[in-house]
Amino acid sequence: MAENRFISEFLRSALGPVPLAEAGILPPSDHCTIIPGFCDVHVHLREPGFSYKETIASGTAAAAAGGYTAVCTMPNLDPVPDSPAHLAVQETMIAAQARVHVYPYGAITVGERGEQLADMAALAPRVVAFSDDGRGIQNDDLMREAMRSAKRLGKLIAAHCEDNRLLRGGYIHDGAYARANGHAGICSESEWGQIRRDLELVRETGCAYHVCHISTKESAALIRQAKREGLDVTCETAPHYLVLDENDLKEDGRFKMNPPLRSAADREALIEGLLDGTIDMIATDHAPHSVEEKAKGLRGSAFGVVGLETAFPVLYTKLVVTGVLSMEKLIDLLVYRPRERFGIPLAENDYAIWDLDAAYTVDPDAFRTKGRATPFAGMTVRGRCLATVCGGKPVYTAEDGVK
Ligand SMILES: [Zn+2]
Repeated sequence: MAENRFISEFLRSALGPVPLAEAGILPPSDHCTIIPGFCDVHVHLREPGFSYKETIASGTAAAAAGGYTAVCTMPNLDPVPDSPAHLAVQETMIAAQARVHVYPYGAITVGERGEQLADMAALAPRVVAFSDDGRGIQNDDLMREAMRSAKRLGKLIAAHCEDNRLLRGGYIHDGAYARANGHAGICSESEWGQIRRDLELVRETGCAYHVCHISTKESAALIRQAKREGLDVTCETAPHYLVLDENDLKEDGRFKMNPPLRSAADREALIEGLLDGTIDMIATDHAPHSVEEKAKGLRGSAFGVVGLETAFPVLYTKLVVTGVLSMEKLIDLLVYRPRERFGIPLAENDYAIWDLDAAYTVDPDAFRTKGRATPFAGMTVRGRCLATVCGGKPVYTAEDGVK
């Protein structure tokens, strides 16, 4: 089996033998698979500022339960990490609460308001990359200045691409479902138009550039072309854009995120992008909200769904078991490529033990995250994380896990 070949490669590799006994975990039995810790470059841990949605403790517990040992946390917080003093508030909380390795992003602009650059030089040594995630940077000159600064500092810009002029009050994809059900749509161009603008600026500045959560076929085509040109560009997409599309929408806030679930043609183009290397990695965009915030249907709910605890089982079930992707490719997308691009180390004692044969139904009430909204609720999946070890310490053990 592909996974067994993968494991033996892992065990043979320079990472050395897996110190299960040291971790207090007995060697797994035949049906268990050891996978190096996943790395998610796009999560919202919500602290400081929004502890009612998620805490660093609950978010990293969810990461551990999903087999992740490293996460990058987005800066749409209060205070926004736009200065060393603001970042320090978050760093203190991470040091006290985090169960897995947490790498904060620095904001590109002060307060993520898109008006004035944050103190990027002072932040650079302490942040994994720069992003104003949650918002696109509307001002071309400011983005150019941000890219020049990032280039000088040797840092990556991770861009949430969204042109506010094209939003027109939309909240789901501007497609067949929106038209049939009387919803305001978000057009694809609001995403790819800003990617196109940014690629122009990358040509000009030479900045290392990463596009967050791409959802449209045009975005994939633009990035494919940019890579052919030799630009220093990468991108991520999220599990929901690969597995679901507008045909799966229901009148329920758990199907609402930004960017939205697009058309079947977009979903297929993203899969193609994974296969040909246009899309470099899969990130969850784990974005928890309170139950109340997600209870207002498609129109009124907040944008964002949780993803850390379902990413691997959903991708394994829908893409690997079905033969779309190999296990090696999925591991590359979840473990190695994100670390390479963002400069995040993989330690030999960061891994998880999975039972890939276990089949079960996704039950949000069993999540460690405080968020409950997921479009995957009720889906039958395969692959249960039995235990996660981070820095040699067990940070997650399923109740029916490895004994
Ligand atoms: Zn975003």
